[in-house]
Amino acid sequence: MNLTNKTIFITGGASGIGRECVTAYLRAGARVSVLDRDENALNELQMQFGNEALLTWQGDVRQKEDIQNAIEQTVAAFGSLHVIHNNAGIASPSKPVHETSEDEWDSLFEINLKSVYYTTKYGLEHLKQTRGNILNTSSIVGTIGQENHAAYVATKGGMSALTKAMALDYAPFGIRVNAVCPAGVWTPMLRTWAGEQPNTNEIEQYLDDIHPLGDCPEGDVIADVAVFLVSDAARFVTGCIMPVSGGAELGYRR
Ligand code: NAD
Repeated sequence: MNLTNKTIFITGGASGIGRECVTAYLRAGARVSVLDRDENALNELQMQFGNEALLTWQGDVRQKEDIQNAIEQTVAAFGSLHVIHNNAGIASPSKPVHETSEDEWDSLFEINLKSVYYTTKYGLEHLKQTRGNILNTSSIVGTIGQENHAAYVATKGGMSALTKAMALDYAPFGIRVNAVCPAGVWTPMLRTWAGEQPNTNEIEQYLDDIHPLGDCPEGDVIADVAVFLVSDAARFVTGCIMPVSGGAELGYRR
């Protein structure tokens, strides 16, 4: 896939799936602008790829000013905006709703879902000019659910629903909106969560077992699909909630 002359703004691009996407976008020839709250990880990204095709902004997707500034400065530096990739997200503690604190609930919704509202608010006019597209990193749990993670599931269900609603609203402007939905992916987020469980070894085995196509993957499998969805090769694809899950959601297994 060729992304030459495309400008891609991605949130949460300093680690895990986002970092794999940044790598793949740069390799495909795009100019990439990354907003992330982790300054050290952004510095590492700059050290690995630092060139005129990569911009990084330290900021928090809960802060609308951070998103607005990063998008405006991206357009000022690169001249246009073709893609917004909403990828920043946090995992929930393993709890049902009534045990989830209000702070935990609010953080999950602000980071995982409300941030899409801000990037759309500040990015849409730029996307209209390029007939660009939006990609959301959602999750298969937003469709099939997950025990003991109701708040996280609700944010991802919201993100997948939003993907379809926005696809309809922005199709008249030629703007596509799609989502990639992993099951498990070995990233710092998942490793931290697995490490915190009392039965880490069993959890790691479980994460391998839920994917019929093979073991729990690394983020490159998501990045390869992301490159396709944001590229012109997917120019007639919109509202697609695409599982990139090795078949994890397909049905009961023995
Ligand atoms: P990760 O923790 O490795 O990376 C997330 C990145 O987002 C980090 O760089 C972090 O600093 C950044 N971030 C978090 N909160 C932020 C904030 N408030 N402002 C700015 N940046 C912020 O996690 P990951 O596993 O790569 O997750 C990326 C996305 O993929 C998330 O939306 C997650 O829900 C989704 N996802 C992950 C998995 C998985 O198994 N890893 C499965 C399904 C969906």
